[in-house]
Amino acid sequence: MRIILDPGHGGQDSGAVGNGLREKDLVLALAKEVISLLGDYQVEVISTREGDVAVSLAARAKLANDLQADFFCSLHVNAGGGSGFESYIHPEATPETRSLAGALHARVADFYIQKGFPDRGLKRANFLVLRETAMPAVLLENLFIDNPRDAACLADATFLRELAGVIVSGLVQTLGLKKNTGWDPAGEIARLRERGLIVDEHAPDAFVTWGEFAAVMNRLLDRWEQNNQKAGDKG
Ligand SMILES: [Zn+2]
Repeated sequence: MRIILDPGHGGQDSGAVGNGLREKDLVLALAKEVISLLGDYQVEVISTREGDVAVSLAARAKLANDLQADFFCSLHVNAGGGSGFESYIHPEATPETRSLAGALHARVADFYIQKGFPDRGLKRANFLVLRETAMPAVLLENLFIDNPRDAACLADATFLRELAGVIVSGLVQTLGLKKNTGWDPAGEIARLRERGLIVDEHAPDAFVTWGEFAAVMNRLLDRWEQNNQKAGDKG
């Protein structure tokens, strides 16, 4: 599972500005929190920009397509005299996109409602990053930078962290992401092969025969005996 996270704007393009805030800074900070939290899950996350740099809309969509991402999530902050949260999908979005975006929107909207902000709904727009991406794509408009009450929350690092947590829990739920267990069965098999204790490739969930078990045990015991021999020689 590969997610492209797309903090909007950057470089010369500040995005919306208001109340001493710039959209490009807020969405980058938010993206970094989201990426860090997704580190606990079995998912690869790639950002369309790492710092305060200009990236064209076409380049953002192309990156997602080139990497054959499974999901594209664009992060923005609204402006224009409203308040609250809305999200967007393309007018010709597939049923899969509609359902994934609907679930993600519902999770994030719940958070905003709890914080006393209106849910402005899941809307449709012919935005380039939604149109040109070959995978389910959604764009989240988080509060209004030109509204003092919205901006006060956006300026609050704790609020942004909380929002990042909610977006992550929405992605986890929507995309069925699994927690990292630190347990990698295929990796364990690869290590045994590197060490020469098993020879063939095995599927992690394949059954072991007594013959195979005995062969591995004998290789282990041979090594143990060789080591003992060497230790004895030294003594
Ligand atoms: Zn924007």
